[in-house]
Amino acid sequence: MLRLFDSAVGSVVDVQGNSGGAFSIYNCGPTVYDLPHLGHGRAVLTFDILRRYLESVGVDVRHVSNVTDIDDKIIARAKERGVDPREIAAQYEEAWWKTTDLLGALRPHEAPHATEWIDQMVDIVSRLLGSGVAYRGDDGVYLEVEKVEGYGLLAQQPLADLRHGARVEAASFKRSPLDFVLWKFVPSDEIGWATPLGYGRPGWHTECVAMSTGLFGHTFDLHGGGLDLRFPHHENERAQSVALGYPFARHWMHHGFVEVGGAKMSKSLGNFVTMEEMVEKFDPRSYRLLVARAHYRSPLEVTSALAEDAVSTLARLDRFSLRLHELVADDSVELCEVGVLQEFHREMRQDLNTPVALANLFRSVTEANTAFDLGEWVKAKSQAVEILSALTTLGLVTRNVEWVPFAVVQRAQDRQRARETGDWGTADRLRSEIAELGYLVEDGPQGFSLRRSDVVSSKKG
Ligand SMILES: [Zn+2]
Repeated sequence: MLRLFDSAVGSVVDVQGNSGGAFSIYNCGPTVYDLPHLGHGRAVLTFDILRRYLESVGVDVRHVSNVTDIDDKIIARAKERGVDPREIAAQYEEAWWKTTDLLGALRPHEAPHATEWIDQMVDIVSRLLGSGVAYRGDDGVYLEVEKVEGYGLLAQQPLADLRHGARVEAASFKRSPLDFVLWKFVPSDEIGWATPLGYGRPGWHTECVAMSTGLFGHTFDLHGGGLDLRFPHHENERAQSVALGYPFARHWMHHGFVEVGGAKMSKSLGNFVTMEEMVEKFDPRSYRLLVARAHYRSPLEVTSALAEDAVSTLARLDRFSLRLHELVADDSVELCEVGVLQEFHREMRQDLNTPVALANLFRSVTEANTAFDLGEWVKAKSQAVEILSALTTLGLVTRNVEWVPFAVVQRAQDRQRARETGDWGTADRLRSEIAELGYLVEDGPQGFSLRRSDVVSSKKG
């Protein structure tokens, strides 16, 4: 059905669902202490496209993505602001769902919260202690990685090399610098749980093991996330599971980084872009288009010019959909086999080759437009139907109304209020500002409408 690059194997392999039941996908969700950025957006869209594709070929998918709602970063942010950590987590979780909805991502079937799975985490850590793979250090319970068979599988490096590359940890109680914390002891005045392990909080790597195996059982079909999660996060999730004797994920899928202005996006480089900034400036679909134009394992380059280009590509697709709208809806024109979907599926099956799949679709749009111009109705309609179906699978739904930048809408709303209060000076000033942004505002009985000043609407004929 589908071939994907499996990080545990290091090559493209056939991905088959486990016999019977839904195809189970777990991808690591956000730690909710800040606004989602472009990297988060890429993660959400990559797994959204995978899920939509599988569903389009009739696979029943069960998608789980967690919310890390307890973490040192959440606690630090809460201290900074003098509020309860739960308040921070709730605030940023709301921002998270708002963003993923704007991106048109299907919500996961389940979104477990770490704080609701503490008992299961304590159980996992207790069993690891009981079997002698974990040990108590000064500030928490640690996993001894040397005791885990095949540690380094996802890093694709032997243990000795990983140990050599690890930064030297000051803590003398650690048996290896690679050993990682399963349960952190914390002072009694900090947020934590009183458990048989001691008062404390779970380690991040333990959270995902508890939630994924808690919901799916000891094995599931696909575990994914960004390349930065492959090691140590996913390696350490897998290590706990292997130490407990569970097979864990059958396949591992990782997507590449986001580069802004030619450099990996990071706060320290000052090229950090939140999803909020992106969707306020550009049609929210444009980021999905940028994500799909790159192969999921390649770095994703984001610049204003590329985003602008995506916006005009979307406008082209929207115009196409509008132009052929009546023909597509015309039942008297029959459909024939044109091979657009067949070609689309062939590329998608091969490690989700979205860049080539999209290039083929754009070529088909040109062909369909030509067929339409020549009055070849059956061909034009058949191609349009298949193109629109493939675009829907990618989550790129075309629109018959134009998207308008937030800055323009905001000024039009302010202008409307100014008009209502008779402040004609402000209303005129805002009209010129809107014109400078390339839009015309028109007043009608239903309120204002906006259209681009440089676009002449193209109707059939
Ligand atoms: Zn995780």
